[in-house]
Amino acid sequence: SHQLMAGKRGLIMGLANDKSIAWGIARALGEAGAELAFSYQGEALKKRVAPLAEQLGSDLVLPCDVSDPASIDALFETLKESWGKLDFLVHAIGFSDKNELRGRYVDTSRDNFLMTMDISVYSFTAVVNRAEKMMTNGGSCLTLTYYGAERVMPHYNVMGVAKAGLEASVRYLAEDLGKDNIRVNAISAGPIKTLAASGIGDFRYIMKWNEYNSPLRRNVTIDDVGNSALYLLSDLGAGVTGENLHVDAGYHVVGMKAVDAPDI
Ligand code: NAD
Repeated sequence: SHQLMAGKRGLIMGLANDKSIAWGIARALGEAGAELAFSYQGEALKKRVAPLAEQLGSDLVLPCDVSDPASIDALFETLKESWGKLDFLVHAIGFSDKNELRGRYVDTSRDNFLMTMDISVYSFTAVVNRAEKMMTNGGSCLTLTYYGAERVMPHYNVMGVAKAGLEASVRYLAEDLGKDNIRVNAISAGPIKTLAASGIGDFRYIMKWNEYNSPLRRNVTIDDVGNSALYLLSDLGAGVTGENLHVDAGYHVVGMKAVDAPDI
C-alpha cells in the first residue's frame, strides 16, 4: 500500500475518551494505515476505550496501570504473544493530585511529588524498556509534554518539574536506543481541553492567553498533535530523535504579550 503507516504496528497508551490527545494521535495513525493496540487504566475506562478502538479497526484493548510494574509486564507479554514485534509506542499519560495543580509549587507534598514522578516520568522509561525488546526492526517512541517544563506557568507546579524530567528522559533514551534504530521523541503540545487538563487551575484563562498570544492566534487541536505525531512515528521522521517538537501554534517563541491581544 502507498499508506505511510501500512504494515506498522503500534501501542497507544493514555486513551481515556474522544477528547484525549491519544485519540487525535490514534486517528491520524489509523487513517495512515497503522495497526493499533490500546492500553487503558482500570476497568471503568474499558467501556470508553473499546468502542473508540473498534472505530479504528482494533480489538487489542488491554489493561495497564503504569504505577504497577507487574501490570506493565503483563501488557507487554500479551502484546508479544499477539504481535511478536512492535514498530511504535505512544505514551500519553500524566497524573498529579489536582489539589497541587493550583497554589504554590513550594507547598508540594513529598507523597504527591513521588507519585507524579512515577506516573508522569518513570512510566515512560519503564514502557520504552519493555518496548525496546519488541522493536527488532527499529522503532519510534513518543511522549507528550508541555512548555511548563521550560518556563514557569501558573498552577502547573509539580507537573512542570515532572515534564522537565520527562524531557531529559527523552534525550537519554534517544542515546541508549539510537544504535538499534529506535527513535525517542516528545511533542510539547499547547493547552487542549481534556480530562487531565480540567484538573489544572484557571485552565480557561490559560487557553485564552495562548489563543491571543501565540503566533497563529489560535489553540491547537488533538488533530494538529496527531498529524505531527504521524510525522515523528512514521519514516518521515527517520532522521529525528531526542527532539521536543512544539505543537503549540508557535507559543514557545513568544517573548511578551501580543500588542493586539484583548484583555481576558
Ligand atoms: P487525558 O485525561 O485524556 O489523558 C491522560 C491519560 O493518562 C488518561 O488516559 C489516564 O487514564 C492516563 N493515566 C493516568 N494515570 C495513569 C496510570 N497510573 N496508568 C495508566 N494510565 C494512566 O488527557 P490528555 O491531556 O490527553 O493527556 C495526555 C498527555 O498529554 C499527558 O501526558 C499530558 O500531560 C500531556 N499534555 C496535555 C496537554 C493539554 O493541555 N491537555 C498539553 C501538553 C501535554
